[in-house]
Amino acid sequence: MRLRLPTEHPAEPPTGYKIAHPVLSQDGARAGFTGVSLGGALPYGVVSDASCLYGRRHRPPARLCDCGFHCVHDRAAAEALLCTAEHRGAVLLEVTVLGAYIRFEHGFRYARQRVRTATVGPCGCGAPAVALADAGWGRPGRLALAAACAGCVRGRTSVTLTAFARLAGEGLRVVAAPAVAPAASATAAAPASASPTVGAAALPDGLGVPELVAEAALLQARLDWFQSQLARLGEHGTGGTAGRD
Ligand SMILES: [Zn+2]
Ligand SMILES: [Zn+2]
Repeated sequence: MRLRLPTEHPAEPPTGYKIAHPVLSQDGARAGFTGVSLGGALPYGVVSDASCLYGRRHRPPARLCDCGFHCVHDRAAAEALLCTAEHRGAVLLEVTVLGAYIRFEHGFRYARQRVRTATVGPCGCGAPAVALADAGWGRPGRLALAAACAGCVRGRTSVTLTAFARLAGEGLRVVAAPAVAPAASATAAAPASASPTVGAAALPDGLGVPELVAEAALLQARLDWFQSQLARLGEHGTGGTAGRD
């Protein structure tokens, strides 16, 4: 007896989320990603077809195999994976699930994908990323990259986020996650020490527009935090009297 899965015909291809390490080819001409688990041995581009990891002659996602791309339905579930020590250097990918797929409770296993957006977390020092820099490991012919701010790139091999997007091609968007703003408002009692200061004076000369835009974003985040603190103080000052009258 053959079990049959119900067939879906969605009006548009489903969206999913996953994490991966950004990689740069050895000659610096191409950019892509490599998976964090089983699929890590097979780097992939922005639009890519899965192949069976076990070299079997079937098209993923084969029902009795576990090959194919994997993603989860929920962005927060993918973000949660970034908390573990070994995944801190990974980036969050928003993907379009193309071709055949098998739906599970938490996600999909599928044949083909397009990476639409890569969200790069903060640099190890906590400042927003302006570049992806040599992470100190790789795959044969591929250099793994990790988020770096302008101050921490130093002499490492690196590409700006916009350059990575251009090298990867196919309309990929690469964005930097706002680094300190959410953490700062959550720990409002601990003041500015929660966010490391990357002052304009600490920046090296010759920065391009993306670096300056990222720096402006950091200043904006700090201003937002400052304004939220002012707003909180304002609430404390007037809230009581309004209630009494
Ligand atoms: Zn397979
Ligand atoms: Zn840094």
